[in-house]
Amino acid sequence: MISIPEEGKSKEEVLKELELARQNDARWEDGRIFSLVFHFSEEHSKLVKDAYSMYIHENGLNPMAFHSLRKFESEVVQMTASLLNGDSNTVGCMTSGGTESILLAMKTYRDKARKERGDRYFVPEVIIPDSAHVAFLKAGEYFDIKMIHAPVDKTGKVDVSAVERRITPNTVALVGSAPNYPYGTIDPISELSDLAIEYNLNLHVDACVGGFILPWLEKLGEDITPFDFRIPGVTSISADLHKYGYSAKGASVILYRSMDIMKYQLFVSVNFPGGIVMTPGLTGTRPGGAIASAWATLMSLGQNKYIENAKNLAEIVRKFKEGIQTIPELEIVGEPQGPLFAYCSKTPKVNIYAVADILESKGWHIDRQQKPASIHFMINPLHGKIVDEYLNDLRDAVEKVKENPDLAKQATAPVYGMLANVPLRGMVESEVRKIVEDIYKGTSPEINLEEQNTPDNVLTIIKKLFSYLSNK
Ligand SMILES: *Cc1c(COP(=O)(O)O)cnc(C)c1O
Repeated sequence: MISIPEEGKSKEEVLKELELARQNDARWEDGRIFSLVFHFSEEHSKLVKDAYSMYIHENGLNPMAFHSLRKFESEVVQMTASLLNGDSNTVGCMTSGGTESILLAMKTYRDKARKERGDRYFVPEVIIPDSAHVAFLKAGEYFDIKMIHAPVDKTGKVDVSAVERRITPNTVALVGSAPNYPYGTIDPISELSDLAIEYNLNLHVDACVGGFILPWLEKLGEDITPFDFRIPGVTSISADLHKYGYSAKGASVILYRSMDIMKYQLFVSVNFPGGIVMTPGLTGTRPGGAIASAWATLMSLGQNKYIENAKNLAEIVRKFKEGIQTIPELEIVGEPQGPLFAYCSKTPKVNIYAVADILESKGWHIDRQQKPASIHFMINPLHGKIVDEYLNDLRDAVEKVKENPDLAKQATAPVYGMLANVPLRGMVESEVRKIVEDIYKGTSPEINLEEQNTPDNVLTIIKKLFSYLSNK
C-alpha cells in the first residue's frame, strides 16, 4: 500500500508523472476511440479549461454565497430549455452528469406518486425500453422502483403496444430515449406521449446524448423524430452538456415541464445542527468549474458553431454508413438518427467479434456490444480524418475473417460471444462483482488500476471470467 509522501514532490516532478501516466491511456486525439471523449477543438478546450480553473474553488452548494454560479446555472438551464422548446414554466437544474439527471427524474416521479397516493412505502413501476440507459436500472436499485422492460422492434425503437400492455395501476412513468446509446435510434416519443396522457403518467425523455446535437441536426433539415417539450406528454428531459454540449465533464441538465413536478426533486432539511440545508440534486458540494465552464461553452460556441459542427458530424456519419453498407456481410442495426449507430454481421461466416479483434490489432479502440453482437460508434469531429482509413481496415478485417473462420475461436472473439450468450446471467454478474471488488480492494495481482485500460488487461479480466465459466 502506498501512503502520502512525507515530503511533497516538486511541481515539475508531479506534472511529469501525470504526463507519463497517461502514455498508456486510450489515444483519443488520434480519433481512434469511438466513445468516452467529446472534443470540439483545441481552441474551445482552452476556453473550457480557463473558465473551469477560474471557478476551481467556488462551490455551487449554496446558491446564496456565489451569485455568479446561481446566475450561470439559471442561464444554462434557460438556454437548454429554450433549445428543447420549453416555455416560461420550464424549470430545472444542473447536475454532475446524465446518470444523476436520470436518478433524479426517477426519484421525483416516485416521490410524487407516494405523495399523491398518501403512501410513503408505495413501490412504483416505470416502463423502460430494453435499450434504455443502464442509469434507469441503477435508479431502480437505489430508489426501490420496479423497472419494467418493454422490447425494442426491428427498427431499434421501443414497441409502443408492448409498453401499453405493461401499464398497471402501479405505473407512474414511461421512458423514451432520444436517442438511446446502443443503437442511436429515437423512440416514438409522440406515441409514448399519447399513452402518457391517456393513462395520466409522467414521461421522461432521455436526451442525455442527443439533447445538444439532435436540435441542430433538425435545423439542418435532417430527419429527426420530434422528442422535446413540443410533445405535450413529455414531463421531463435529461440532456448532457459534457457530451455534444462540448463542456467539461461533470455537467448535465435535468428539465421539468413545471415546478409542480420538480418540487418533488428538491431536498430540504431544517434539523441538521449545521444549519438549514437545501439542495436540488444528489450531491452536496457542486464544482463551480463545471457550472462556469458550461455557461462559457454555450456563450462562446453559440448556435452557429453548434450547427456548423452538426453539419460536419452528419457528413462524417453519412460517409461511415455508406462505407459500411458497401460491405455485403455487414449491416447497420435498426434505423439510427444522429451521430450514434452500430453495425453487425449478416452472415454466420463473419463473426463480428473477430472483426473487432483485427481492428483492435490495428490500433482502433473498439466498443463491442451484445444484443445483437455489434460494434458501436459515437461520432465526433476528430473522426473526420480517419473515416477512409477505418473503412479500409474494416474491409480488410471482414475479408480476413471470411477467409479464416478459425479467427472466431481466437483472441477475445469466443469470450465476447460466450459472455453475450451465457444464459445464467446471475453467474456472470456474481463473477463481475468479484472482479469489481478486487479492483477496489486494490489487491488483485492481475488487475492493476493503472493499466486497466490497456487491451491486455481487459483481456485478462475477461479471460478470468471465461476460465471460470468453462470450468463449470
Ligand atoms: C451517456 C448517457 C447517459 C448517462 O450519462 P453519464 O453522463 O455517463 O452519467 C444516459 N443516457 C444516455 C442515452 C447516454 O448516452
